[in-house]
Amino acid sequence: MPLYDHQNIKIYNTLSGEKDIFKSINAGYVGMYVCGPTVYSNVHLGNVRTFMSFDVIYRYLLHLGYKVRYVRNITDAGHLENDADVGEDRIAKKARLEEIEPMEVVQRYTVDFHNILNTFNFLPPSIEPTATGHIIEQIELIKTIIENGFAYEVNGSVYFDVHKYNESKNYGILSKRKLEDLIHNTRELDGQSDKKNPQDFALWKKAEPQHIMRWPSPWSDGFPGWHLECTAMSTKYLGDRFDIHGGGMDLKFPHHECEIAQNEAAKNQSPVNYWMHANMLIMNGKKMAKSTGNFILPNEIFSGKNPHITKAYSPSVARFFMLQAHYRSILDFTNDGLLASEKGFFKLLDAINLMDGLPTASTSTFLVSDWKQRCYDAMNDDFNTPILIATLFEAVKFINQVKDESATISKDDLSELKSTMHSFVFDILGLENVTKEDSGTDKLSSAVELLIQLRQEARANKDFAMSDKIRNELAAAGIQLKDGKEGTTFSTN
Ligand SMILES: [Zn+2]
Repeated sequence: MPLYDHQNIKIYNTLSGEKDIFKSINAGYVGMYVCGPTVYSNVHLGNVRTFMSFDVIYRYLLHLGYKVRYVRNITDAGHLENDADVGEDRIAKKARLEEIEPMEVVQRYTVDFHNILNTFNFLPPSIEPTATGHIIEQIELIKTIIENGFAYEVNGSVYFDVHKYNESKNYGILSKRKLEDLIHNTRELDGQSDKKNPQDFALWKKAEPQHIMRWPSPWSDGFPGWHLECTAMSTKYLGDRFDIHGGGMDLKFPHHECEIAQNEAAKNQSPVNYWMHANMLIMNGKKMAKSTGNFILPNEIFSGKNPHITKAYSPSVARFFMLQAHYRSILDFTNDGLLASEKGFFKLLDAINLMDGLPTASTSTFLVSDWKQRCYDAMNDDFNTPILIATLFEAVKFINQVKDESATISKDDLSELKSTMHSFVFDILGLENVTKEDSGTDKLSSAVELLIQLRQEARANKDFAMSDKIRNELAAAGIQLKDGKEGTTFSTN
């Protein structure tokens, strides 16, 4: 089959509510924008999952031969604590608490973000613009929206007039909300706000005296509204209308709804053809939250230093685990799931590494070209990575049969199988051919895991003298065992 065949890709489009056939605006080119992180804390694993979904989509489009311009922004100003345009700027608040400059907060967590994504083997985007680097573009956009009659100024702040907009356009087109319902469900702010209506959102906010992140504008010294930066940056680099806009499910409303409204108000057109939303990540069946302790930082997966996991996992194992769920499904992060993924992942790698030494025959007992087509079919069907992985495991089974001489493969088929496996596993899924030793399954962990198992057996047999001996001897060697609800973990000092 031809590699570059865009007619075959179907994308679930939040705007249409259906899987639409993908056709890029300019043949052979794709413009893709993904809302990046607000860099005021360590990147959340749920965000990593969202960005990983789009990393795989980016990789697949590149593999098909598209020239992709992938823009993912850094929000370093304008994102307030509260979506209703009140509260402190998240970055300024962190700077105040830590007694450092806001730009030190930005630098610290941008570096953390890049480190984590590099560790997970993400491809960098083509452009990574920042909100503070595009204040001029945002001010110009506000001027146009005011000129077109869709925004108004009050006391140095500028608000988008949602009610006016909804007279000629459709506010709610993406999130399928109706303005009447929003009005009904919004509590009045008792005149505390300058807004004409509570549904209006800020394009520019006048800075309070204590607000240190501020820029001059025709209306006041202040800062842009959060939704505005993505409209300014996406259209600057991708054009007034582009192919794909992605982000987490939580951004659908109001953030992405507002992006559409801003673009319609400024340029009289919808900015995006395909809106894609990645679902959320939960842990042990519950929402992940620092406050409840049901929480893990990405780095803790690699170190194993978190009570919810029993060992360290390599980044590729964690990546493989996450890609076993489709990006539109909720992903439940569990230690059992990671353990199972680790087994599966090394089974996959073992098979790939076996291919070099496989004997060939005159005929094949496996239809390689048919299998290869099914790999593409899986990805063409809204980037279905779990189906792709299941299809890859059909080849794993076959490779092991060839090794055991219960199946045969021709030389040409073997070379086709090898190159296809490499493309899908390493180039598209972005996994790395790591050894078990540098995957967190190091020799020490394996030995301690074995002792933990022996201790459990001793306890099951009521041989408490033995179980205590194992624990005490390990402690004497500087290895502490900790018994928890999810099994026994260990730490070294
Ligand atoms: Zn955004």
